[in-house]
Amino acid sequence: MKKLLSVNNLQVHFTTFAGEVQAVRGVSFDLAAGEAIAVVGESGCGKSVTAQSIMKLIPSPPGRYMAGEIFFNGENLLPKTEKEMETIRGKDIGMIFQDPMTSLNPTMKVGHQIVEMLKKHTNLTGEAVKRRAVEMLALVGLPNPEKRYDQYPHQFSGGMRQRAMIAMALACNPRLLIADEPTTALDVTIQAQILELMQELKDKLGTSIILITHDLGVVAGFASRVIVMYAGKVVESGTTGEIFYRHRHPYTRGLLASVPRPGKEIRKKLNPIAGRPPGLINPPRGCAFWPRCDRAMQVCREVQPDMVQLSDTHWVSCWLTHEFAAKGANVRS
Ligand code: SF4
Repeated sequence: MKKLLSVNNLQVHFTTFAGEVQAVRGVSFDLAAGEAIAVVGESGCGKSVTAQSIMKLIPSPPGRYMAGEIFFNGENLLPKTEKEMETIRGKDIGMIFQDPMTSLNPTMKVGHQIVEMLKKHTNLTGEAVKRRAVEMLALVGLPNPEKRYDQYPHQFSGGMRQRAMIAMALACNPRLLIADEPTTALDVTIQAQILELMQELKDKLGTSIILITHDLGVVAGFASRVIVMYAGKVVESGTTGEIFYRHRHPYTRGLLASVPRPGKEIRKKLNPIAGRPPGLINPPRGCAFWPRCDRAMQVCREVQPDMVQLSDTHWVSCWLTHEFAAKGANVRS
């Protein structure tokens, strides 16, 4: 499949009063045209900063791109000016956020907001723009789209606002849609509907999707590949099957164990990963996961493990994959 996006060694820092936060520390991944991938990890692992970097939405100051390249459709986005990015955002790359109110203007009717977007990025004019806006509201499954066109965001429920935001993000038929925790604020039924809708739109319009989420439970059935991030780095990536059934990184294992399982296996208590992610002002020298890892070895504290390729699609950064690592190693000292 043709490559649409290529993120190479992306490094993003933020200057704070406490020091320099190394939020993204050398992230690399590719996305093919028409593909849906998921980027997962706990809050603060750098997944949203990575997503916002693709749109060049990191405010500077305090943020800075320290190194790396983001090739979209063959062009590196990082050297582009704000003016150049304005022609790409919304038109070629759409984004939906966790809170629709951050991208919907509460003072403007929903339909008019879609019209603004269409006027900016397409040649449509007059009645055709309105027609397209109503079509988009219908496409995302909003009932009475003509009526909804003339309403304000506060007249929509949470799920409807999320649909309206998807309609706006897809109005100009972007090649890439970045969905940053798009369902976190919604109840489980609406969550499932929104993910199903995104899947349908991907199939219908051929849009590539990056789904950012802390919840591995929503990934199965949606993404073909999963990228697991921890402390600003990719620690494992693979097809959804490899990540769910053949994962090798203890952090991936912990993430999967913390997904609640309904039915027979339901447990009274969730099974969270013990401890907290490290601060990124002075990230650990070796594997950033070692203080929480039940299989950590002495080397893990001192030396960062390389990314090791396990199959055409499966990569992992963990000393346990070393050919001489003791099976079931747990050599903490
Ligand atoms: Fe655990 Fe060591 Fe692997 Fe890190 S490198 S995940 S500490 S075993």
